[in-house]
Amino acid sequence: MNLNALIDSLPGMEIITDPTQVAKLSQDYHTFSPVLVPKLAGKVGDIAIRPSSEAEVIKVATSCAKHRVPVTVRGAGTGNYGQCVPLYGGVILDMTRMHNIPWVKPGVARVEAGVKLAALDKKASYCGWEIRMAPSTYRTATIGGFIAGGSGGIGSIQYGLLADRGNLLALQVVTLEDQPRVIELRGDDVQKVNHAWGINGIITEIEIALGPAYPWAEVIVTFPDFMAAARFGQALGNADGMIKKLISIFASPIPQYFTSLRQYIPDGTHAALLMVAESSLELLPGLVQQHGGQITYQKPAQEPGKGGHLAEFTWNHTTLHARTVDTSITYLQSMFPNDKSLEMVEHMYHHFGDEVMMHLEFFRVNGVVIPGALQLVRYTTEERLNEIMRYHEENGVFIANPHTYIIEDGGRKVIDPEQLKFKQMVDPHGLMNPGKSKVLSFQSQN
Ligand SMILES: Cc1cc2nc3c(=O)[nH]c(=O)nc-3n(C[C@H](O)[C@H](O)[C@H](O)COP(=O)(O)OP(=O)(O)OC[C@H]3O[C@@H](n4cnc5c(N)ncnc54)[C@H](O)[C@@H]3O)c2cc1C
Repeated sequence: MNLNALIDSLPGMEIITDPTQVAKLSQDYHTFSPVLVPKLAGKVGDIAIRPSSEAEVIKVATSCAKHRVPVTVRGAGTGNYGQCVPLYGGVILDMTRMHNIPWVKPGVARVEAGVKLAALDKKASYCGWEIRMAPSTYRTATIGGFIAGGSGGIGSIQYGLLADRGNLLALQVVTLEDQPRVIELRGDDVQKVNHAWGINGIITEIEIALGPAYPWAEVIVTFPDFMAAARFGQALGNADGMIKKLISIFASPIPQYFTSLRQYIPDGTHAALLMVAESSLELLPGLVQQHGGQITYQKPAQEPGKGGHLAEFTWNHTTLHARTVDTSITYLQSMFPNDKSLEMVEHMYHHFGDEVMMHLEFFRVNGVVIPGALQLVRYTTEERLNEIMRYHEENGVFIANPHTYIIEDGGRKVIDPEQLKFKQMVDPHGLMNPGKSKVLSFQSQN
C-alpha cells in the first residue's frame, strides 16, 4: 500500500492525516453490540479524504486502484454493524461534502450522496413533498449511507422498505476499476448497490421517490396490557384509510428509558408512539378506546426540523436511550411472521420475559402490515445471545443479526448473484470495504 504516492497524486484535495481525526472517522455505532466491540477494536484507516465533487471521487478511485489501497466509504458513520470500520486500513472516503441537491420535482428528487436526510426533507417540503422513509438518525445520516447501510424506518408503515420497488429510482456509482467509470443504474438494477455496505462502487448521486408531506401529529397512547398495545398497533397498521408514518409499541419497562417522556407514560404501562396525519386524527380515539388504551400526549404538526420528535425514541433510537441508562443492554433486529393474531409476538413476550424486552415497529412488507422488532436484550454472554436468536429463527421469526460485520451473516444471508457479478466488475481488485463480505476481497487478493 503506497500511501505517500497516493497522497502526492491528489493535490488540492481535502486529506486528513491526523491519527486522532482519522480514528474518529473510522468509527460507527457498532458499539451497540458487545459482540462487535472486541472484534473491531483498533481497526482504523490510514488517512481520510473528503471529496467535494464527482470529479474528485474519480481521482481518488483512480489513485486507490493504481496503488491498491482499500477504500471504506463513509457517510455520517451512524451504521450499527461496523459497516464503515475499515478492517485493512487504507482510505476513509468521507462523502459529507457532497451535499448538493440538483433538483426536486413532484414525487422525486435527485441528490448527491452526502446530503443529510433532514436537509433533503426540508428542501422537498417547500414544494409539499418529503422523503418516504427515514432512519431515526435522519438528522445526521446521509442519504448515501442510508441506502448503502440502512433498510427503512419512519414512513415504512406506509411505503415499505427502501429495497421495495419504486422507492429508489436511480443510483450513480463510481467504480474502482483501473480506469474508473461512472455508471448510472436505473429501475431494478439499483438493487445491485442497494444495502451493499459500500462494497459495490461509490454512490455519488441518487434519485429517490418522495411522498406527500402531510402535517404529522405526534401521539402517545398507554395501555395496561402489552398485547392490547400490540393489537392496537396491528389494527392501526391495517386501517388503510388512515394515513400514518410511525407505529412503535414498547413493552414496560422500556418507556422508563425515555427520560423526557416519562411524565406521559406511567411506570408499569406499555406505550404506543405514533405519527398520524392530522386529517386522520379524528378516527384515532375510537380505535384507542376499542383496545383499552389512553391518549396521554398529542402534539399538532410542526414545520420539519422544529422541536423534539417522538421519532427520536423509536427504531434504533430506542436502543440508544436504553443504553444511555444501562450500557449492558443490546438488541435484536427481527421480523415476525404475517399473523394478524400476533401469536408469535405473544409467545416471545412471555417466553423471554424481562430478558428480551419487546419493542415492535409495524411496517409494510409486500402489501401486508407486520410487526418488525428491535427487542432490547439484557446481555449476559455471546452464547446466550446466539441462543436467543436461534430460538426466534426456529420459531419462524426472521432475524437480521446485528452482531456481525459480515454482510451475508446479517440480514442478507446470501449475496444476490447479480450483486456479485456487479461487484466483480466494479471492484476487480477487492478494494471496497474489504473483509465485510465472504466474496472476493482485498484479503484474498493480497
Ligand atoms: C440510534 C440509531 C438509530 C438508527 N435507526 C435506524 C433506522 O431507523 N433504520 C435504519 O435503516 N437504520 C437505522 N440506523 C442505522 C443507520 O443510522 C442508518 O442506516 C443510516 O442511514 C446510515 O447513514 P450514515 O450516513 O450514517 O451511513 P454510514 O454509517 O456512514 O455508512 C453506512 C454504510 O454505507 C456505506 N456508504 C456510505 N456512504 C456511501 C456511498 N456514498 N457509497 C457507497 N457506500 C456508502 C458505508 O461504507 C457503510 O457500509 C440507526 C443507527 C443508530 C445509531
